[in-house]
Amino acid sequence: MRFSYVSHLYCPKCSLTYDLNQVQHLCECGAPLLVEYDLTSMKENWKPSDLVGRRNDLWRYHELLPLQREENIVSMGEGMTPLVLMEKLGEDMEIPLLYMKDEGVIPTGTFKARGAAVGVSKAKELGVKELAMPTNGNAGAAWSLYAAKSGIASTIVMPVDAPMITRNECAVAGANLYLVNGLISDAGKIVAQAVKEHDLYDVSTLKEPYRIEGKKTMGLEIAEQLGWEVPDVILYPTGGGVGLIGIYKALKELQQLGWIGEKMPRLVAVQSDGCAPIVKAWQEGKTESEFWHDSETIAFGINVPKALGDFLVLQAVYETEGCAVSVNDRDVIEELKLISQKEGAFVCPEGAAAFLAARQLRKEGWIQATDQVVVLNTGAGIKYPNTVEVEIPRLNKEEKIGPKNVTLQ
Ligand SMILES: *Cc1c(COP(=O)(O)O)cnc(C)c1O
Ligand SMILES: [Zn+2]
Repeated sequence: MRFSYVSHLYCPKCSLTYDLNQVQHLCECGAPLLVEYDLTSMKENWKPSDLVGRRNDLWRYHELLPLQREENIVSMGEGMTPLVLMEKLGEDMEIPLLYMKDEGVIPTGTFKARGAAVGVSKAKELGVKELAMPTNGNAGAAWSLYAAKSGIASTIVMPVDAPMITRNECAVAGANLYLVNGLISDAGKIVAQAVKEHDLYDVSTLKEPYRIEGKKTMGLEIAEQLGWEVPDVILYPTGGGVGLIGIYKALKELQQLGWIGEKMPRLVAVQSDGCAPIVKAWQEGKTESEFWHDSETIAFGINVPKALGDFLVLQAVYETEGCAVSVNDRDVIEELKLISQKEGAFVCPEGAAAFLAARQLRKEGWIQATDQVVVLNTGAGIKYPNTVEVEIPRLNKEEKIGPKNVTLQ
């Protein structure tokens, strides 16, 4: 049995191929590189029953991951997150088969841990000593913590407005952390310069090919958790779009392996009205997005004005007959409260945005009452303690209180 059926890297734009035993970043044409597996021989040797009794994290799919040697795994038990039926919320939206894939319960509190686990493990296998990245916060937190575990040094640059907790995560992990007065695109330029001058390993979104392999495990898990069936619709809060590209890649690989049938879920890219470059491109029928100026949203993880992999996101949306929708921040907060009150789940604003998009699409009839719908909650609400403003009564000592429906004197 082979540990991995990883074969080589290829460019989805110009089809050039690359050796994966060396450090690789972008293709010479400027496009991101993707990982290819030897699916033909894998199909003969790997069956769903092989997964029985395996570790309950994303490494259970090691044959379909890019690591060549097991000893290079850097793991904190990430993956195999719950797929929860949202009965009361689904009733409210008139989507009885509404599910949440809850990434809030993963190490570091967001699904960024998946990309970091696989990306850092592969970096270790390649002998990397120091990595660098721009981030909106969550990726920096996950990568610096996983890098710390593997003994790799990290340099992280994030916007000053990024969620405060993510600074602390990077700092406590011992990262070389900087805040920039600007957006992730500004952080990106600073990192690109440092990478050139100091020969660092650039792990910016899609500038190394392995983060997407970690994120694709969300797609593998959804299929496995539904008994090797796929849902009708998957909604994903889209920033760089790596998760969406990854889920689509995973499902196509499972099709080629014969583990799932011909059916593909309609993939929905969800963005905020304040930063919706993918939505705009989709509405105009384009295959690439344009830079979104002065972007702003409370859903910080999806504040990405121009994604390197935009053409892959749009391709996934077009090929699955999905769509791209944007939602209003104020309504996102209301949806977030409703989800907590109906389901007991304190989701992140990005996740709430995706739920709100499901509600909108159901109203428009794009989602039907019989559709099985999976919404990705990409992180824990507790990572954004200030998203919801609350007013709480102050008591004097020995003051009396009553239950919720009794007016206090
Ligand atoms: C990064 C992030 C996203 C967007 O992920 P992409 O795969 O880059 O589109 C969504 N939600 C949260 C919480 C994030 O941290
Ligand atoms: Zn190319």
